[in-house]
Amino acid sequence: MAITKVWIEEGCTACGLCEDICPDIFKVQDGTTVVINDKYYAHEEGIREAAENCPVEVIQFTERRDD
Ligand code: SF4
Repeated sequence: MAITKVWIEEGCTACGLCEDICPDIFKVQDGTTVVINDKYYAHEEGIREAAENCPVEVIQFTERRDD
């Protein structure tokens, strides 16, 4: 499935893990994380890994079925 949207919910602790995993998409800035790039198709593995490993589970994404 293709990732169509990525966002950060409230509660990010700015730990930096997502930026370490996928710096093309996530940037820690001003005490939270911002999504800096919408070319999700090129970074799907990193987005999924960051979302799975975020300690406070605030990385959200939606997917579109390809079939
Ligand atoms: S991994 Fe989660 S808590 Fe850490 S900086 Fe990224 S969004 Fe914030």
